[in-house]
Amino acid sequence: SAQVIDGRACARVLKESLSADVSCLREEGAAFGLATILVGDDYGSAAYERRLRRLADGLGVPYQPHPLPTGTSQDELIALVEVLNDDPAVSGILILRPLPAHIDEAAVFQAIDPRNDIEAVHPENAGLLALGVPRFVPSTAASVFHLLDTWLDLAGEDRADFYHRSLIVVVGRSNNVGKPAISLGYERQATVESIDEWADRTTGIGRHTRRADVLIVAAGKAGLIKAEHVSENAVVIDVGINPQTGPDGRVHMVGDVDYASVAPRVRAITPVPGGVGPVTDVWLMRNTVLAARLLAQHPAGDTSALPEPTDSLV
Ligand code: NAD
Repeated sequence: SAQVIDGRACARVLKESLSADVSCLREEGAAFGLATILVGDDYGSAAYERRLRRLADGLGVPYQPHPLPTGTSQDELIALVEVLNDDPAVSGILILRPLPAHIDEAAVFQAIDPRNDIEAVHPENAGLLALGVPRFVPSTAASVFHLLDTWLDLAGEDRADFYHRSLIVVVGRSNNVGKPAISLGYERQATVESIDEWADRTTGIGRHTRRADVLIVAAGKAGLIKAEHVSENAVVIDVGINPQTGPDGRVHMVGDVDYASVAPRVRAITPVPGGVGPVTDVWLMRNTVLAARLLAQHPAGDTSALPEPTDSLV
């Protein structure tokens, strides 16, 4: 049976080193903090927002939640983003997705000051990531590769060698998860294949996923990946978080991978919950701290701000 890649344990280790960074910022008297904007009442986003609130509390990261009604207009939302851009107590801004249909996501993302854009959704930051010189690495993709790297170390594999000879198949191609994961795969000099919904409809995903040494699944479809879709030596990272009502009427979270049938077959796998999620949350806080450092180097009005590569590509 597969080795279980423990996201909670990994998140605890990251949290400890982040705590030290937070203390440093405090001693330096640097202003920092995370602001989140949640428009409407999407179930998953609301759950995510609560987790971030608890984590920020625990780490001592100042936290500003901005819940807005579903009917909020695009102009009102952009006006709030502009206020937060200018707030010295805010280093990181997170806009929770999905936004209501009447709001153009891209227009809102463009309004974020790139120095506060901890999820790299602004075109400038998305571009830097695609060019391999990221300012911020989006937290979910960062978390996927952090888990992989950590597991490789534990398994006694040479990271570079493993990636060079691996085919990474990414199922799902969203701007916030799939595409950044593809970029990080390229940066590790792996062979990367990207599958979306159309490939599934036309030819089925199995012929791609069965060849994967590393299978990263971010489609948002509960139980999409079953035993027949994976090879026996695969390392499977399940990004999906799908609410499902159990026979007891209670809602619980399941991944995109049918864990019961896949886990006995593969080499290693992340569970849901307890896999990618906890590491993603800590990574967002880490990017908030990183943003504070960047703002200290390039304060408002400094238009010469050059790309400031992160300490490493995860
Ligand atoms: P999205 O809906 O924006 O994108 C989904 C992508 O999957 C699209 O490219 C779509 O074409 C593709 N897809 C859908 N069905 C498919 C199929 N049958 N075969 C192949 N490809 C298919 O979703 P997203 O924002 O990328 O999120 C994906 C999942 O990851 C969701 O369940 C979300 O809740 C979860 N998520 C988890 C974390 C975390 O920290 N664990 C963070 C962000 C998102």
